[in-house]
Amino acid sequence: MYKTKPTMTGGCQCGAVRYALFEAPESSICHCRMCQKAIGAPFAAFCKVTSACFVWTLGEPASFQSSSAAERHFCHVCGTPLTFRYLDGDAIKVATATLDDPASVPPTKNYGTESRVPWIDLIAPGRLPDTSTTDSASRTIVSYQHPGHDAPDA
Ligand SMILES: [Zn+2]
Ligand SMILES: [Zn+2]
Repeated sequence: MYKTKPTMTGGCQCGAVRYALFEAPESSICHCRMCQKAIGAPFAAFCKVTSACFVWTLGEPASFQSSSAAERHFCHVCGTPLTFRYLDGDAIKVATATLDDPASVPPTKNYGTESRVPWIDLIAPGRLPDTSTTDSASRTIVSYQHPGHDAPDA
């Protein structure tokens, strides 16, 4: 469908909305209060590419204009937050955790640090008791989460 192979792909939890990036993104964290709310987490991790290097490959996301300057896309089926972009900008940021391989894009900058939660250091390895998902599973769980990689012909 696309002439060049994407640099990275990603999508929402249910798989209704998928996207592709066509350049190496700039990875950052935003601690601002608006990103905290929009992502539903103590901070947001984003990967920025130019608008020309971003494409929706499956589904139509819903959007919310969170200020006079910006909008955020999300999946209307499962609610996963997907993007942030300035309305007058030439770039789009995808939520890093929605990439198929978020571990490959460590952040290089912090933004919105005035709202950084004061306990952020506590989540570093070794600071709190660690429990893995398999350690804590008390029953068999069947995942309905999209497996995360585009089908060969998608
Ligand atoms: Zn979804
Ligand atoms: Zn922010």
